[in-house]
Amino acid sequence: MTNSEQGTRPTVRADLAAMSGYHSPQVRVDVRLNTNESPLGPPKEFVEQVLAEAKQILWHRYPDRSAVALRHAVGAAVGQSASRIYCANGSNEVLQNLLMTYAGAGRTTLTFEPTYALHSHLSLTTGSTAVALSRGTDFELSAESAREAVDSHQPAVTFLCSPNNPTGMLEPRSTVEAVLDAVESAGGLLVVDEAYGEFAPWSATELVDESRSLAVVKTYSKTWAMAGVRLGYMIAPDWLVKAMEAVTLPYHLDSMKQAMGIAALDHGEAMTARVDGVKAERNRVAGRLAELDCRVWPSAANFILFRPPVEAPTDIWQRLVDRSVLIRDTSSWRGLEGCLRVTIGSTTENSVFLAAMADILEQS
Ligand SMILES: *Cc1c(COP(=O)(O)O)cnc(C)c1O
Repeated sequence: MTNSEQGTRPTVRADLAAMSGYHSPQVRVDVRLNTNESPLGPPKEFVEQVLAEAKQILWHRYPDRSAVALRHAVGAAVGQSASRIYCANGSNEVLQNLLMTYAGAGRTTLTFEPTYALHSHLSLTTGSTAVALSRGTDFELSAESAREAVDSHQPAVTFLCSPNNPTGMLEPRSTVEAVLDAVESAGGLLVVDEAYGEFAPWSATELVDESRSLAVVKTYSKTWAMAGVRLGYMIAPDWLVKAMEAVTLPYHLDSMKQAMGIAALDHGEAMTARVDGVKAERNRVAGRLAELDCRVWPSAANFILFRPPVEAPTDIWQRLVDRSVLIRDTSSWRGLEGCLRVTIGSTTENSVFLAAMADILEQS
């Protein structure tokens, strides 16, 4: 007899049973523009360096538990001391560990939707109460409404995402400063997710200071073309980095990952060239979508949110899949009725996408 026949199968936590996991459909297509990855892999010199590193690693030993060399390298790259750098397996793990440290049972987190789904999802899996408020009609966030929200909900952790996924929009410095002031008055922590920060004209990293309750979270997944490595980091005051020790699993960053994170930083120029290429293509794709009568939101990231001039955007999405082009159907997400999101790919991929769009819209 199986467990379920006996009725003895363990029950999932009630609050989790009601949730759905976080998934981005992985359909097999030629042109994949749905998860905001880099269209190009890292430079081949990096791959060769990594292979050489692999021969040096003491595989039978645990890795450096506090990833000292990696944190020094990241700190040098962003102009901060190593004591202000915390690394984890993707920025998602940084976010989860932040929530385990500062949110959790009996505490509230605050998001402004639409935004990255993992912020509220991880709030719930860590047992926090997630308050999700809406942005304005064009996805803007006024400093005034953010301040009121913080005052009335007294969140332990408040999230901003800049540039924001899925809208691509950048939070101005004045808004981040206003929200940070409000968060500090309420005794909370502001987390700014800058997964796409390198595509944007300014970074909240400039505001990080021992006296401020601010953590800026970044990743190697997008700009560094290393989504397959799973490495993210946070820039935050020393006291905050120290506080994270309590929830961090021992030796969570394997030796190879630490070596790869350091090696990547030797290729900053190649990375900058990739970012510049994506930004140029972003402007071309945005311009063409606007010509096709799509509503296009201004993006400071490597993707574009747009609304095609049709009733049913899911049909457009499906017809793109039929032509082996996969983008993200965001039309069922709260506040994103009618919208689709496309990642900026290589020049060829973008051209295939734009030609398919023109064709499909002509037939609609
Ligand atoms: C892609 C993305 C991440 C990246 O997560 P990793 O775990 O570092 O791959 C984090 N935040 C946002 C907003 C993203 O879009």
